[in-house]
Amino acid sequence: MRCFLLEQLMTAQTNPSVTSIVLTGGNFNFSAGADLSEFSSFAEANQSNIPSLIDVVSAIEASEKPVVAAITGHCLGGGLEVALSCHYRVAHSKSKLGLPEVQVGVIPGAGGTQRLPRLVGLPAACHMILTGKPVNAEKALQLTLVDIVSDQVLETAKEWAQQGETTPIRRVGQLPPKESPPEAHVTLHAATLGFPPQGSEGLHAAIEAMRAVYTTPDLSSGMKVEAEQFIQTLLSEQGQALRHVFFALRSAQKPWQSPPPHLLLKDKVPVAVIGAGTMGSGIALVLLQTGQYQVYLVDVHEKALEKGAQLIQQILKTQTARGKITASREQSLIANLHTTQSYDDLRDCQLVVEAAIENMTIKRKIFQQLSSVVPKTAILLSNTSTLDIDQMAAVVVFPQRFAGWHFFSPAHVMQLVEIVVGKQTSKETVALLQDLTKRMGKIGVVVGNCDGFCGNRMLKPYSAETVLLITESKNNIAHVDKAFLKFGMALGPFQMSDLAGNDVGYNIRKERGWVRTGNTTPNRPDRYTELADDMVAEHGRLGQKTLKGWYNYDLAIGKGRKGLYSPEMEMLVQKYRARGATATTEAEMIEQVLYPLVNEGFKCLEEGIARSPSDIDIVYLFGYGFPAWRGGPMYWADHEVTLSVLLSKLQSLHRKYPRTEHFVPSKLLERCVRLQITVEEYYKREMHLRSGQAKL
Ligand code: NAD
Repeated sequence: MRCFLLEQLMTAQTNPSVTSIVLTGGNFNFSAGADLSEFSSFAEANQSNIPSLIDVVSAIEASEKPVVAAITGHCLGGGLEVALSCHYRVAHSKSKLGLPEVQVGVIPGAGGTQRLPRLVGLPAACHMILTGKPVNAEKALQLTLVDIVSDQVLETAKEWAQQGETTPIRRVGQLPPKESPPEAHVTLHAATLGFPPQGSEGLHAAIEAMRAVYTTPDLSSGMKVEAEQFIQTLLSEQGQALRHVFFALRSAQKPWQSPPPHLLLKDKVPVAVIGAGTMGSGIALVLLQTGQYQVYLVDVHEKALEKGAQLIQQILKTQTARGKITASREQSLIANLHTTQSYDDLRDCQLVVEAAIENMTIKRKIFQQLSSVVPKTAILLSNTSTLDIDQMAAVVVFPQRFAGWHFFSPAHVMQLVEIVVGKQTSKETVALLQDLTKRMGKIGVVVGNCDGFCGNRMLKPYSAETVLLITESKNNIAHVDKAFLKFGMALGPFQMSDLAGNDVGYNIRKERGWVRTGNTTPNRPDRYTELADDMVAEHGRLGQKTLKGWYNYDLAIGKGRKGLYSPEMEMLVQKYRARGATATTEAEMIEQVLYPLVNEGFKCLEEGIARSPSDIDIVYLFGYGFPAWRGGPMYWADHEVTLSVLLSKLQSLHRKYPRTEHFVPSKLLERCVRLQITVEEYYKREMHLRSGQAKL
């Protein structure tokens, strides 16, 4: 494409019958930017005779004949850099323009950091480059990023090109910066204040490149700085991890097959959610927001039903107030929401999601009742976090249309959804769910059925070991959270538990028979502490919702979301802490907690619960706040920890705690270490051998 563009441009320069030039991407996208897979061979390409994008944009800008970009669809990354090198820009009203490079761990490398601030000013350029978020045509016009918005893009571009023939050519790269160096310094410094302490290498590189607009004499010297920063980010570990995430996301969401025809794909189809609690109301809202469904919300408790519906309306109202949706959209969505306590109203529903309490008997009863009401074609799903979906499928009439659909809390915010495939779930059902999950703006990862599926199963050692860090060892709650925040997790483990509700884990442990009732000692894992059970059952410390959990909360401080020190918890910790316990270092905490989490990830792969290590990475990045710049837990293990170190540490933890199952090293991990390859390489090899889909 670069060669072609350059050749055409040269031909146009020398052909006397060409008086001006319009650059178009045809009817679809102007250009969605670079092919990221080319980045891995960037150095080779750089040494070859293939022109770089810098050569292309320099030639366009230098053209003696006016060049106009006719922008349709996506105009992103390298695509926008090409458009910026044109002398004028005409955009279709539906086009999107942006420089998303930082999201894949690099910075714009073909003049984007130099031309955009010259054209739209530094604050707007900072916003676009540092968030990586695109702007629509209307905003682009307002920013003067484009000269005109027109739905007759090509015709208008031709007119502009012809007008350009009689006016002096305007070259963006030659425009003087809009700000003085001191002004720019203040803006750039302010922008860095919001950066997270770690994982911001790309952002800092972008800042340095933009700074060069003000500190170097001209475009070419600024572009030298940009090129240096680009190469640094390209080769950096964080940049590579972010690109891994980019490809992992696509691979995780690759459809099993195109969705088969189903009534669910039609407009105004009724669907239902059973249980109007935290999860049910969130899922109902997400279904509503597609604008496609009539959503029935069901609950056995009238109060819960009312509360759930009110919550949905409240969230939509806030979205309207923030200008995210229009008032008429809000009204039409609310009109699509129906509450009921009668299953008779669900007789036309093509999809029913169960989000009642985590209890197998109740869930089976619900599905049994539903099966006799809904149409034969309906898809039945459970949002269970841990329970065996095959046991539920056993009571429905068409188990091939039954699956788990595991959302994360809050369902309307969290992007991840695990699509849990049971023994009898059909490929068609999986494909429909993948499609629907995507249309809802969520990231669906297909996983197998086991206790906790992929994400919560791996969380088991994480939760258990973090609590043991304060009872077996002498670390306080805030100190443990701090170690994980420093590692880059979005929340510390105790903050996360307080947010999700400590009763969630408690109920799961109860269901597993681990919680003590009366004097009998339950059958539970070795190294079990009753601290977490006690704080919920005896002290009502359910988390933020009761204003007390691992921390105290005060509605007057940080809207009741800021964790405050709790003397009561301190006393409880003392009660359960082992005598003579000593403190551990932050590095030891990470090892003791995250190594068995990764080990469990390996076991998920062994058992076919996860299809690939990169799928696990996506689950942890989008469901559990694992830092994206570390690439996800499996990528982190492969590249930062290295598998031989992981194995030897697990072996020593296993020697220390021989009866703790999650320290028993996975066979797959041992195999990878023996073969001296990463698990990513192992899977690539396996996939190649199977040349198809991994078994599930
Ligand atoms: P919740 O207690 O907030 O809501 C459950 C609702 O179900 C209540 O309103 C209750 O009245 C209703 N209910 C109980 N029995 C019912 C029945 N027979 N028919 C209809 N409604 C009934 O619970 P939640 O946190 O929303 O969890 C719901 C499900 O989602 C559970 O299976 C849970 O494991 C799962 N889940 C929870 C989370 C989380 O973080 N809270 C995350 C993912 C999945």
